[in-house]
Amino acid sequence: MNKPAVSFEFFPAKTELGHEKLLSTFDELNKLAPTYFSVTYGAGGSTRDRTLSIVQALLERSDTPIAPHISCIGDDKSKIAELLELYKNLGINRLVALRGDLPSGQVGMGELPFALDLVKFIREHSGDHFHIEVAAYPEMHPQARSFQFDVDNLVNKYQAGANASITQFFYNADSYLYLRDTLKQRGIDTTAQPLVAGIMPITNSSNLVRFADSCGADIPRYVRKQLADFGDDRRAIRDFGFEVVHRLCERLISEGVPAMHFYSMNKVEPNKRLVKSLGLAAETV
Ligand code: FAD
Repeated sequence: MNKPAVSFEFFPAKTELGHEKLLSTFDELNKLAPTYFSVTYGAGGSTRDRTLSIVQALLERSDTPIAPHISCIGDDKSKIAELLELYKNLGINRLVALRGDLPSGQVGMGELPFALDLVKFIREHSGDHFHIEVAAYPEMHPQARSFQFDVDNLVNKYQAGANASITQFFYNADSYLYLRDTLKQRGIDTTAQPLVAGIMPITNSSNLVRFADSCGADIPRYVRKQLADFGDDRRAIRDFGFEVVHRLCERLISEGVPAMHFYSMNKVEPNKRLVKSLGLAAETV
């Protein structure tokens, strides 16, 4: 059976208590033996200190690689170069490179307006030191001029030196498979430069709908309707959400997906339940 690699994404906590909780979440998910953990970064440097602090704390905790996200919109090259040096000195050798979205009120795209510019800059600055992952959109980035333009952008990011891309979350396996096949037709060897499936467990109805609407991810009607029917019944949402995402992952595995990146939302249970039931956890867990 195809056994895809697993990774988990965290966002930096806002409080000391949240930070401590995240460390114990890390310990639990780390038992599943993921390939790496990534930590998000607020565009324009808005979470710089918090991202750095959790990255350092996780590095001290185990040998599992940590991949900080790094964004370029609104930042200048010197700030990004400083961060690259810092990460190199911490022994980090993988990054998730993004454009980011400017926090409301902040203006000015900065010296590197798109993720493609960032990938080129990282390669110019640090050569092959970092394994670089970029973002991909099976259902198109919401600001893209067209689907084809967005695919061109992804192809350009691979050609500029991205080692892999991670998709926005999706619940329609065909959108992922279509993008993968389109990349192959465009000459990208997705065995060497994989398209990693971004997986969002479903645990909460209103947050999911708001998040999906803002990032242009489609929630199928049968899912949206049933989540609405469940109202405040959190257990029913969790069980139905598990079933939907489990089926999605099974289909992706049967289609040979090389890796799955779980948008963990800093939670243990929904991620652990999926990874274990899909048979992707370490043998000992
Ligand atoms: P790009 O690849 O630069 O694309 C952005 C848009 O610009 C697309 O619509 C593209 O088609 C268009 N475009 C590209 N080049 C041009 C051009 N020359 N002219 C006109 N249009 C162009 N956000 C954060 O702030 N922090 C995070 O940590 C974070 N992590 C993420 C992790 C993953 C796996 C994913 C999928 C997304 C993440 N995001 C994060 C969200 C991401 O930053 C947003 O989706 C952002 O709007 C686009 O980032 P990008 O890297 O895809 O940008």
